[in-house]
Amino acid sequence: MGEYILRCPVCGEAIDDCYTNTCIKGCNGLVYADYSAKQITVRDLPGMFRYHDWLPVSGWTQTDTCPATYRSEGLADHLGLKNLYITFNGYWPEKRAFIRTCSFKELEAVPTMLRIKERLKNGILQISSAGNTGRAFAEVSAGTGTPVIISVPKKAAGSIWTTRECDSVFLVTIEGDYSDAIALGNEICTVPGVISEGGAKNPARRDGMGTVMLDGTMAIGKMPDWYFQAVGSGTGGIAAWEMGKRLLADGRFGDRLPRLYLSQNEPFVPMVNAWAERRREIIPEKDMPGGKEAAMETYATVLTNRNPPYSITGGLFDALSGTNGIMRGVKSGDAKKAGRLFMDLEGPDLDPAAEVCVASLISAVESGDVNRDDNILLNITGGGYRRAAEDLDMIPVRPSASLRSLDEADELKDKITEWRRKYA
Ligand SMILES: *Cc1c(COP(=O)(O)O)cnc(C)c1O
Ligand SMILES: [Zn+2]
Repeated sequence: MGEYILRCPVCGEAIDDCYTNTCIKGCNGLVYADYSAKQITVRDLPGMFRYHDWLPVSGWTQTDTCPATYRSEGLADHLGLKNLYITFNGYWPEKRAFIRTCSFKELEAVPTMLRIKERLKNGILQISSAGNTGRAFAEVSAGTGTPVIISVPKKAAGSIWTTRECDSVFLVTIEGDYSDAIALGNEICTVPGVISEGGAKNPARRDGMGTVMLDGTMAIGKMPDWYFQAVGSGTGGIAAWEMGKRLLADGRFGDRLPRLYLSQNEPFVPMVNAWAERRREIIPEKDMPGGKEAAMETYATVLTNRNPPYSITGGLFDALSGTNGIMRGVKSGDAKKAGRLFMDLEGPDLDPAAEVCVASLISAVESGDVNRDDNILLNITGGGYRRAAEDLDMIPVRPSASLRSLDEADELKDKITEWRRKYA
C-alpha cells in the first residue's frame, strides 16, 4: 500500500524519494509518483487517506480533510444539466465536507506535511503564501504537531488562523506583496535543515489535489466528461490530468480522459491568452499586460500567480494539450452573480475563486461548450466560511517575526536556527 518511485517526465529516470522534487539529472519537468498499485483500492482510512494507494506517503495521519462530492439538484436544474456533480472543498458538515480552513489547499497540506516527516529526518518545511495555503498548512501543523515556517505579506497575516491551539508554526510577515513573501521564503531556506515545500513541483501537493478527481470519479462511478476549476497556478488542473491518466490505466473508469475546463478572473488571464493561441510560452507583455496592477484589480486574488507552471514539461500546457482542454476568462461581476446564485440554489457561501468557476460553468452551458447530459465535475475549491465561523474557533496565529524588508533577514535566520532546535 502506498508504494511508489518518483519518475522524471523528461528523461524517464526513476528516483528514490528523499523529499526529491526535481530530476537528479537536472531536467526541467514535474517529477511525478509512479505507484505500484495500477488499480486503486479505496481504503478504510481517515479522510483523504482513503485514496492512500495514490498518495506519495507510507503512513497516514488522523484527519477529516477530504473532498466531498454530491450530485447537484438546485444548480443542475437551473442550468438544465442532467449530470452535474459538485466536489465541495470547504466546510459543510451536512455534506460530510470538513475542510476547516475552507479551501482545497488543505488537500495539499495533509500529504505534504506527512511526506516531509517520512522522507526527511529533522527537515522543516517552509511555505510562502498569499493566505489560503498558509492557513491550510498552519491547520495541519496544529493537528499533527509537525512544525512549519510560513512567510506571508503583512496584509495577509489576518488570514492565517487555525481552529485548534497551535504552537508549531513559525509565522513571518514582510511588508509588500506575495512576491516579497516568496523572496523572504527563499532567504529562510538558506538556513540548514529548512526545506522549501516545492509548489507545483512537489508530487505530494499535486496528488493531494488530485483526490478531487478521484472522489468525483468514485461518486459518479466513472470519470467525468469535464473537470471545471478556476486556476491561478494551474496546479489543480495538472493534478486532475495526472489522476485522470492513472484512472484511464486502471481500466475500470472509462476510456477517455476528462477534458479540463479552466478559468481565470479578468483582467488577469495570462494562461487563457497563451492557450488561446496554443502557445507553450507565456509572453508577459502580451498575455499579462498591466502585470501586478492587473493582478490587484481582480476580485479572486488567489488566481493571480505571475509565474505559473504552465510551460514546464508535465505542466499545464501539457495537461490542456493532453485533454483537449478549454480555458476561459470570467468577469468579476459575473463571478459575484454566480456566487449569489450558488448560495440561493445550493446553500453555502463560496470563495471568490470558486465563484469564478461557477460563472465559467454558466457560460459554458450558454455557449454550448458542454452538452446538457454530459457528466460534469465542478471543483468548488473553497467555501463554507460562514458556517465555519459559526461552528469553529478561528485562532489567529501570531507572527514570530515581522520584517520591514529583506535587510532584516540575517537576524531572522538566527532566530529560526534557535527555534529549530526544539524539533531537531
Ligand atoms: C489556490 C486556489 C485556487 C487555484 O488553484 P491552482 O490549481 O493552484 O491554480 C483556486 N481556488 C482556491 C479557493 C484556491 O485557494
Ligand atoms: Zn530527468
